[in-house]
Amino acid sequence: MTTYNPKSRIAEEFIHDGEIQETLRYAEENKRNIPLIDAILEKARPKKTETGCTCEGLTHREASVLLACDIPEKIEEMYRIAEEIKLAFYGNRIVLFAPLYLSNYCVNGCLYCPYHAKNKHITRKKLTQEEVRQEVIALQDMGHKRLAIEAGEDPVNNPIEYILECIQTIYSVNHKNGAIRRVNVNIAATTVENYRKLKEAGIGTYILFQETYHKESYEQLHPTGPKHDYAYHTEAMDRAMDGGIDDVGLGVLFGLERYKYEFAGLIMHAEHLEAVHGVGPHTISVPRVKRADDIDPDMFDNSISDDIFAKIIACIRLAVPYTGMIISTRESESVRKQALRLGISQISGGSRTSVGGYTEEERPHDSEQFDVSDQRTLDEVVQWLMEGGDIPSFCTACYREGRTGDRFMSLCKSGQILNCCHPNALMTLSEYLVDYATDRTKEIGFRLIEQELQRIPNEKVRNIATEHIEDIKHSNRRDFRF
Ligand code: SAM
Repeated sequence: MTTYNPKSRIAEEFIHDGEIQETLRYAEENKRNIPLIDAILEKARPKKTETGCTCEGLTHREASVLLACDIPEKIEEMYRIAEEIKLAFYGNRIVLFAPLYLSNYCVNGCLYCPYHAKNKHITRKKLTQEEVRQEVIALQDMGHKRLAIEAGEDPVNNPIEYILECIQTIYSVNHKNGAIRRVNVNIAATTVENYRKLKEAGIGTYILFQETYHKESYEQLHPTGPKHDYAYHTEAMDRAMDGGIDDVGLGVLFGLERYKYEFAGLIMHAEHLEAVHGVGPHTISVPRVKRADDIDPDMFDNSISDDIFAKIIACIRLAVPYTGMIISTRESESVRKQALRLGISQISGGSRTSVGGYTEEERPHDSEQFDVSDQRTLDEVVQWLMEGGDIPSFCTACYREGRTGDRFMSLCKSGQILNCCHPNALMTLSEYLVDYATDRTKEIGFRLIEQELQRIPNEKVRNIATEHIEDIKHSNRRDFRF
């Protein structure tokens, strides 16, 4: 018998099935307990401090009660608070990134993924360094500054040396005014030694989706290959942090298991990282299973509606207010619109999910990882964000200034975001507008920047940011940051 212990380093003790079952029972019993729900909502609400604002977050039990609650007015209240938290800590800035698929060779047997080893009709591809360079040039020409690299698990075709070489190539390409300034990495669970190598290579966030926290389902969904090992996979973030990576990104692949179980597991995982390493996850992603070659999402019985999806996002926002939230082009424009309001702080744009997809004229389907719902170009996404009052940001300053892990969290809590992240967002948006945008996007963008500059409280910072933006407009000087 295992006991629940958030401080344990053993997967089955910090993601404890008994504790999750008990949480689900407690949530079900209390889902209409209005005094309790009101108290939890009150706890989640941002509180004013002398320097700005603070938020307590929620425990996995409290957050699970909210997720179970089906009272429409209380759900509306959750959404209002989620929006308040989002605005307090992330403002109206939305960070943009793109995935870059390096290789779809894979030795695992994941039942939901088209890259599974038994899929014989998918075209297997692995980029050469020259192809990586060409993909990066194409991404820079779109205006991207931040990538998430993706690869299957294959120790022969995609060993860590290959991933490291690709990272080096990506950072070395400077096409015109372009540069990739932050490379996040989404590769299979690995050793402390390899995480250390990734850290030394200058990665931003290490992202690994748990897929499901339910051990039995996990083992069934990953019948073969190294990914079958639930403990090795679930303990990966601890090894990453031991290897010096302090920005890690969690995620669940919604649709595989019951969402309430996954939600409790996800929040427990965040609590575990905080308890052991003193810092919670940098980001949480919320992918849903999509149709893909050899994959029919209807094979899994736990698909969730758009309404439940929105509720999950809002409840994550309330539970872990300082964690960034990511949504990909798996989701449509309309789903993304609501998600932005409820707490999402990063989105991908102009994505291609196939190996070598950015250098192909037509969207290729033969090596795609999943169908992309949002097929708009980056420029269209940028324009759409601005028309909705959001500021598209290409900022990568924090990690390059060493503000990772708890230092990033301190910035979040200090109330200095408007004097730091806000000008950085405006300066990087200016770079995008000058170097890559269409005329219409440029017009909307510079109008927005003029208004938004006025929101920088510190006069000195405001003046410096204004000067830098003039520099960007009239010279090739780039990469200013606070
Ligand atoms: N191979 C690495 C691993 O196993 O963690 C990471 C890269 S994998 C290319 C990235 C993620 O895509 C997976 O973790 C999974 O959650 C997601 N994914 C796989 N198949 C999917 C599908 N059919 N629909 C949506 N997302 C999918």
